[in-house]
Parts: sequence; structure tokens; C-alpha cells
Amino acid sequence: MTKEKVIIIGSGPAGLTAALYTARADLSPLVISGNQLGGQVSITSEVENYPGFPEGATGPGLVEQMQKQAEKFGARVLIDEVTQVDFRGGPPFRLQTHGQSFEADGVIIASGSSPRRLGVPGEEQLIGRGVSFCATCDGFFFRGKDVVVVGGGDSALEEGLFLTKFATRVRLIHRRSELRAGETLKKRAAANEKVSYIWDSAVEEVRGSGKVEGVRVKNLKTGVQTELATDGVFIFIGHYPNSDLFRGQLTMDDHGYLIADRLMMTSVPGVFAAGEIQDPVFRQVASSVGQGCAAAISLERWLAGRE
Ligand code: NAP
Repeated sequence: MTKEKVIIIGSGPAGLTAALYTARADLSPLVISGNQLGGQVSITSEVENYPGFPEGATGPGLVEQMQKQAEKFGARVLIDEVTQVDFRGGPPFRLQTHGQSFEADGVIIASGSSPRRLGVPGEEQLIGRGVSFCATCDGFFFRGKDVVVVGGGDSALEEGLFLTKFATRVRLIHRRSELRAGETLKKRAAANEKVSYIWDSAVEEVRGSGKVEGVRVKNLKTGVQTELATDGVFIFIGHYPNSDLFRGQLTMDDHGYLIADRLMMTSVPGVFAAGEIQDPVFRQVASSVGQGCAAAISLERWLAGRE
């Protein structure tokens, strides 16, 4: 059993900012990375709306800088995943990873959210064989190929535009006839001749033996089903919070987002939450950074108040 003052669960912008602030408060935080070091931003192609980067930044580059900055002040990042927590009767709170057991006086949960799946036949079986949730990671494999993108939000457009660097054609399949995405991305997509739309439609099945060969698409207005041949299916239809671990111990809303108060404290004193694990609304790098900062300051004050 290793004893820590502060453990931060998750290494995205919220977790790394909480690490920077708690490190500078001399709390020597331990960040437990989760299965994706850097969180979702580390698989985002470009971040154009994080202040201070007028030319934009790459997602991986941005979180790498955040990690370096936190480590400079004494934060440590452990590449591991929290598999179990026991917040009852704490502090100290107990946490278990694949390899180790920990106790911590305070915890900040920044475990973020994960890409939502379509839940259609073929999707699960063909992940990594043409079905992807990350254009930055997999776009390269689609050089000279045809891909479809599912979704109509900022992610679908941004990642779809990234895919035009490689693919010959990018068709966006959206369930409505109006995009949810913001104006800037809409304009960029309209100006890109590789991008086209299939409106009012849902992917009903991903087809292929061994790799993606096509999708079955249903027009939601007419009910007509069409088979489209394609090499890749990139799915960007939103996210769900990574909160299963905390079920029964922390208060959450109907969708599984943790409930935190103004000071970012969860229903258990000493356990704070920041970023998308408790934010179904803003979901920006900038807002996650702000929440990570707030959670860290609150935890520091809470710990000081107990001494
Ligand atoms: P989102 O805004 O929630 O959009 C999800 C899209 O997927 C919507 O178009 C939605 O359709 C569609 N969808 C949801 N469930 C579906 C299903 N079961 N089947 C088919 N389609 C489905 O998610 P996001 O695009 O990941 O963006 C999340 C947040 O991050 C947003 O706040 C966004 O602004 C932000 N973001 C910003 C940027 C940027 O500013 N550069 C880039 C990426 C993300 P409906 O429209 O019909 O609901």
C-alpha cells in the first residue's frame, strides 16, 4: 500500500491542470493516467480554440506540454488504470490499479468521457479493421481510400476535415438535415470538395468480413435502405462519462455524470471532480483546464482546513 497526499485520476487537460496546481502547492500529486495518456485531446488532430495558440496546436502536442509543466513542479504520472476505489470512511481514500494499492488524503477525479458507439451490427467486430473513433490515430491508413463519418457535430466535421488529407472522399452521414457543428467548421467543410453529406440517415449495419467493406444506411424520412461501399467508418456521435468506477459511492446524474458543487467537490468531502466526468455542457479544453485548476485549489484548501 503506497500512501499519497493527492491522487488525480485521469491525465487529460483537467487532470494535468489539477496536477500542475497541486504540485505548485507542494502536494506532490500522483496522476494515474487511465488507458489514454493525455485523454481525448491526445487523439484530437487540431485544437484551434485554446487561448494562447493563435496558430492552433495539435492535441498530442498540447497535452505533452501540460504534462511537462506539471512534472516540472513535482507531479508524477503513473501509466496505469484505476480499477477500484473505496471512498467510504475516508480519508484516507483507497484506490486500486492493475498493479498497486494506494491510499490518498485527497482525490481529484478527471477520468473524462469516452466516444459513444452506434450499437449496430458489425461495429464492434470491425473496430481497428476500418471502424474507428479517432481520425488522428487511424487517418493515415486511409490514404487513397473512401471513408464515411457518422455524426453532425464539431467532432464529426473537424475529424472529417482531417481525413480529407488522406482519403479520396469523405461522406458525412447525419441523422438530421442540419448540422450541430459551429459555423467555422461548417464553412471549412463547405469549401472542401472531398466532403459531401448524406442527410436524415442512420447507419444500420457495418459490413465486411475481416475489414470494413461498406455500410447499410437507412433514410429516416423515407425508410429506404441503401448499401454504400466504403473502406472506413469513423464514428463521432458524442461521449459518455467514465464513471462506472464510482457508481454507488458518488452522486451522479441520470446520464452518469458526477455531481460536483461550486468548489468542484463531489458528494464525498475530499473527493473532487473536474473536466468532462462532471461536465456534459461545455466540454472544451479551456473549460476542463479551468475546472482542473478550481478542483486543485479547492482540494488544497480542504486539506489545509483539516490540519
Ligand atoms: P456533439 O456536439 O454531442 O455531437 C454529436 C453528433 O452526433 C450530433 O450531430 C448528434 O446528432 C449525433 N448523434 C448523437 N447520437 C447519435 C446516434 N446514436 N446516431 C447517430 N448520430 C448521433 O458531440 P461532439 O461533436 O463530439 O462535440 C462534443 C463537444 O465538444 C461539443 O461541445 C463541441 O462543440 C466540442 N468540440 C469542439 C470542437 C471545436 O470547437 N473545434 C471540436 C470538437 C468538439 P444531433 O445533432 O441530431 O443531435
